[in-house]
Amino acid sequence: MKLVLLGAPGSGKGTQAARICEEFSIPHISTGAMLREQHLNNPEHNKELHERVAHGELVPDELINEMVSERIREADCKNGFLFDGYPRTNAQAVYLDSLCPVDAVVRLEVPMDLIMDRICGRRVCSECGENYHISALTAIGSEDTCPKCGGRITTRKDDNPDTVKRRLEVYAEQTQPLVGYYAAQGKLIEVAADGRPEDITREIFKLLRELT
Ligand code: ADP
Repeated sequence: MKLVLLGAPGSGKGTQAARICEEFSIPHISTGAMLREQHLNNPEHNKELHERVAHGELVPDELINEMVSERIREADCKNGFLFDGYPRTNAQAVYLDSLCPVDAVVRLEVPMDLIMDRICGRRVCSECGENYHISALTAIGSEDTCPKCGGRITTRKDDNPDTVKRRLEVYAEQTQPLVGYYAAQGKLIEVAADGRPEDITREIFKLLRELT
């Protein structure tokens, strides 16, 4: 199964992606995570890229497309994959179609007012990468330590209100039009994503099983 998960920053893509990939045994390909691992791991390198990401702008299509084309050539992508955060522009969608057309695009729809709270409250474990909302960590008295693995809890640098505002504008301008692009291909699966994560997961599984 070759899938794309489409949704604004804070729509819950990361959480749902992990669950979909486990259920359908496909690799989770997050271009944001790849970018942080491969190009943004040293603050002294790639200063321009750091700047763009820190300001909520996208990085160049060519860089992302190249990372993706290398990644899907790896053996674990043989039976499918799920893209999280890719494609994000029309040029990326056209490139992906030329590389390997996907079977379906799951779109997570969330009201904008929820998104600000979700992202600004987002915390990430520096060890296992698990995402949390600060309120959940506070509730169990574990604001600094990952309840799953004991790793240190961090906040992503681009999860601050100004950058989030710009990321949402960029999403509306450049990524939202892909909804129409994939609807025209008959590949769009729309899911309301403002409920409980487990209910959203159940709905996604149900819709994806209808495909197979
Ligand atoms: P989110 O979905 O919450 O915005 P990501 O981890 O997917 O977070 O992306 C973080 C940043 O990485 C983006 O704001 C952007 O600058 C860059 N990025 C990630 N994927 C892409 C992409 N496909 N095209 C261009 N830039 C990207």
